[in-house]
Amino acid sequence: MSRYTGPSCRLCRREGTKLFLKGTRCLTEKCAVERRAYAPGQHGQGTGRGRKPSEYSKQLREKQKVKRMYGLTEGQFRNLFESVTRESGVKGTNLLIALESRLDNIVYRMGFASSRKAARQLVNHGHVQVNGRRVDIASYHVMPGQEVRVAPASREMLAVKAAQEYASRGAPVSWLSVDGEKAVGRYVERPTREAIPVNAQEQLIVELYSK
Ligand code: SF4
Repeated sequence: MSRYTGPSCRLCRREGTKLFLKGTRCLTEKCAVERRAYAPGQHGQGTGRGRKPSEYSKQLREKQKVKRMYGLTEGQFRNLFESVTRESGVKGTNLLIALESRLDNIVYRMGFASSRKAARQLVNHGHVQVNGRRVDIASYHVMPGQEVRVAPASREMLAVKAAQEYASRGAPVSWLSVDGEKAVGRYVERPTREAIPVNAQEQLIVELYSK
């Protein structure tokens, strides 16, 4: 299935939660979830009234929410899930860790881009290096200990914007160390579930894909 190209805020409203798809706008009162806290469309304000969602529907919504949050297509998301099922440990947690370890997500979490979509562009356009070598694959799996930086030649262009975005976001997650001024950071360690700031019931996704 191809990537969704419609309005981002519609996805958040559909899932009934902020997916943080539009950078700094998501932190302002202009956020559509803040202004219109009901599903989009003609029947949005009446959706689900008095009806109890089925187990399947809850699993599906949770999968859609997480998939949309990280900006993956169904095929990419499913493949990632299949790859983590071969690992030991809790499948749902492994899935979230694999999503968090993608290069586009790391660039976003380090504050070098205001959204995962913007981070993906930064990577695709060759502005990001891992351990000093250019990597232009957004799905690249960053390993603990690796250094991620905005390429020196690109830094001037991005410095002001990135610094502003970084500053407005507050402290990064505990498992990354970041020098916002130099636009460089390190993936310090594999995160625990508690250290991943994502409000999701990943077990529902495991149940959905395990049918
Ligand atoms: Fe979602 Fe951001 Fe739009 Fe709010 S502003 S609805 S968080 S994409």
